[in-house]
Amino acid sequence: MLSLMSYASKYKKQLILGPFFKLLEAILELFLPFYMAKLIDQGIRQNDLAYTIKMGIYMLIMSIVGLICVMICQYYSSIASQGFGTELRNEMMKKINQFSHREIDSFGSATLITRATSDINQLQLALAMLIRLVIRAPFLSIGSIIMAFYIDTQMGFIFLITIPVFSLILFFIMKKTVPLYKKVQQKIDHLNLVVSENLSGVRVIRAFSKKEKDVENFGEVSDDLAQAYNNVTNLSALLSPTTILIMNFSIIFILYFGGIRVNTGYLQTGQVLALINYMTQMLLALIVVANLVVIFTRAFASANRVEEVFQTQPEIETTPIENELPWNEETLLSFQHVSFKYTEKSGYALEDINFNLKKNQTLGIIGPTGSGKSTLIQLIPHFYSTNEGTILLNNQSVNSFKTGQLRQHIATVPQKSTLFSGTIRSNLLLGKPDATEEECYEALDMAQCLEFVMSLPDKLDSEVFANGKNFSGGQKQRLSIARALIKRPDLLIMDDSLSALDYQTDLLIRQALKEKMTKTTVIIISQRVSSVKNADNILVLKNGKQVGYDSHERLLGNSRTYRDIVNSQKEREVE
Ligand code: ADP
Ligand code: MG
Repeated sequence: MLSLMSYASKYKKQLILGPFFKLLEAILELFLPFYMAKLIDQGIRQNDLAYTIKMGIYMLIMSIVGLICVMICQYYSSIASQGFGTELRNEMMKKINQFSHREIDSFGSATLITRATSDINQLQLALAMLIRLVIRAPFLSIGSIIMAFYIDTQMGFIFLITIPVFSLILFFIMKKTVPLYKKVQQKIDHLNLVVSENLSGVRVIRAFSKKEKDVENFGEVSDDLAQAYNNVTNLSALLSPTTILIMNFSIIFILYFGGIRVNTGYLQTGQVLALINYMTQMLLALIVVANLVVIFTRAFASANRVEEVFQTQPEIETTPIENELPWNEETLLSFQHVSFKYTEKSGYALEDINFNLKKNQTLGIIGPTGSGKSTLIQLIPHFYSTNEGTILLNNQSVNSFKTGQLRQHIATVPQKSTLFSGTIRSNLLLGKPDATEEECYEALDMAQCLEFVMSLPDKLDSEVFANGKNFSGGQKQRLSIARALIKRPDLLIMDDSLSALDYQTDLLIRQALKEKMTKTTVIIISQRVSSVKNADNILVLKNGKQVGYDSHERLLGNSRTYRDIVNSQKEREVE
């Protein structure tokens, strides 16, 4: 929690002045009943109108000054807490963006969302309360006792007896509720996970008619949360009536003993009223203390969760091994004994991969689903670090690049194409922020989608919905290819991007690449032999192992797996 406070350091002024003004207000509030007692005892009872008015005006001024102080404090606390929250959220997004895919996998995006939103809100609230109440509440409760003793020592003892009774009850309620609040937080996390999974998969869920089951599942999780909340609030609800009960009992005591002492002449009526006021003030302040404990316990839980994100160090870089494959000027990319597993416990997703890819050449990667094709290409932009071996790009280990620098050289068209909400143009500009209109059209042309974009009424400025929902699979695919091409990267990676397209378009795109992207080295992943057949070399993967690396003709002779794939596709074509 303390380490997070450094994000509030910009707001030192507010952090000091806020509580200071609140303290001023508390002092004024503490003196109000005292002046009221004077007003009654010396003004009203002795029919001294001038004195009554004078005291009345004092009280009015004190209230107004108090109000101004509260407003100033509130203002500072809003600035500081909102600023603190914003700062934290920005830093967290920065940190998450540094994570490799491995760290994001291990957190899960649902909990990262909760941490960046509701947990940080909780911390923001805690800071606001810290400024507004942490000094005021204890000050008021202790101040009330002192004032009570000052008015009448014997009556002050009623206060001293009330406090432990009330504290004991408070303690028992808190002891029960605090752990329950922690549970509630976990359940909110779970609910978020379920909701985000459902919403992202809503189309599939509907397609499989799993809606009822899903709604049921959601209902269970949400009932669970409601139950947990119920348990907590049932207990917390005890707090108010108990306080009021204790408050009324102590007022009875004050009235009873106060009455006796007024009769014997030790006390005056106004002073009794003042005592009642102090009692109320003290108990209300204690309730605030109790609420603060709840807020801070929740904030502690949130702080831990936020800190966990900040303390996660992005993966340690593996040390490069010595070059074993011959390297020359013409080589762009080299895999040297690369092995990789997603988690420590899982088996190897890739094992001992070795190849050199020359500049301006094309590498095809083929293999059954699950053979590690997508995994392999995610290692090149260093989304994940290798467990063993080295990947060299331009004779430099990809681990030693600054991430942004490395990814400038590479453009990937992912297997699952994603477009972002905005326009076609804004999506293309993600590939190259300063691209001209001409470059946009050129990229669209190479990706074989110029015609369809031009047929839209708004052309380049046609709206794209979130996730590109207003386009078909093939259209999305071609637009994400265009987004990669416009970057004119040194290395273009297409992960099964052509298989959603018909053979004709697939061919046209490959031709355009060959003719117009002469400075680009291309990796094409495909299930179709026809897409990779013309590549200079083809890497054949099976169960994460490299079972062939050669040209099409030679692979036909020396790789059984490749021959099997080719034969199976020939049969299908005959059908
Ligand atoms: P391909 O692209 O050839 O179909 P992938 O590279 O996607 O295959 O997957 C290779 C293996 O790695 C599969 O067994 C898959 O279950 C596993 N895998 C893929 N992504 C992850 C991930 N994020 N976490 C853990 N395992 C994964
Ligand atoms: Mg894949």
